[in-house]
Amino acid sequence: MSLDDAPRPRRYLTLEAARALDCNGCGDCCDSSRTDGFWTWGALPRDQYRPLMDGGPLIIPVARSEGGWDGAWGDRDWRPGDDSDATPTPFRCSAFRPQPDGRGLCGIHDRERPSKCGEFPVHMVGQDDDVEARGVMHLETSAFPRCTWFRMDAVAAAHPALHPQRGCVDSDGYVALHALPPSMLAAWPRSGGTGRPPAARRD
Ligand code: SF4
Ligand code: SF4
Repeated sequence: MSLDDAPRPRRYLTLEAARALDCNGCGDCCDSSRTDGFWTWGALPRDQYRPLMDGGPLIIPVARSEGGWDGAWGDRDWRPGDDSDATPTPFRCSAFRPQPDGRGLCGIHDRERPSKCGEFPVHMVGQDDDVEARGVMHLETSAFPRCTWFRMDAVAAAHPALHPQRGCVDSDGYVALHALPPSMLAAWPRSGGTGRPPAARRD
């Protein structure tokens, strides 16, 4: 295994420190096809945020073509149920601007956007309280290897993981989503995650 192939060490940092980092604009959380359908939009309103996009739909549900799991992604109509917190809706965004270098930028970054656009992965509703209550919170970025916050855990201030000698700065520790407190689980689909937390695993 070359150094380039070695797993990136997991990093532990406070939410404050995590929030001081910048999104690198990889764009992988703005279009479900970029995570092979893992990342979805929960609670998509019937108007698909048209008022934010000059009357056109901003967030558009997509589905695989007849090719099944290998099929291409294509637009589909909004349907009842897409507006449910429990419905993971694969999507694309009409404001998304893929770049030649593989990144993707937001075409309405300087305008009003859906609130959840600014939440993933370190500004989620209830996240401060949940980190303090749990001590360590795995940031669900395992499907986003290009994300600034890939393989990072948010930890409470003064948590042992932050200790410079005894801390687990390169541990493969993992906090499974199903172990998160109810407030975090409730916020998860609203932030684009799936309705059902994934099974515990190591990434
Ligand atoms: S509005 Fe911008 S940030 Fe939100 S999904 Fe679309 S491209 Fe991404
Ligand atoms: S996956 Fe992470 S780095 Fe990439 S656009 Fe989303 S928040 Fe930014």
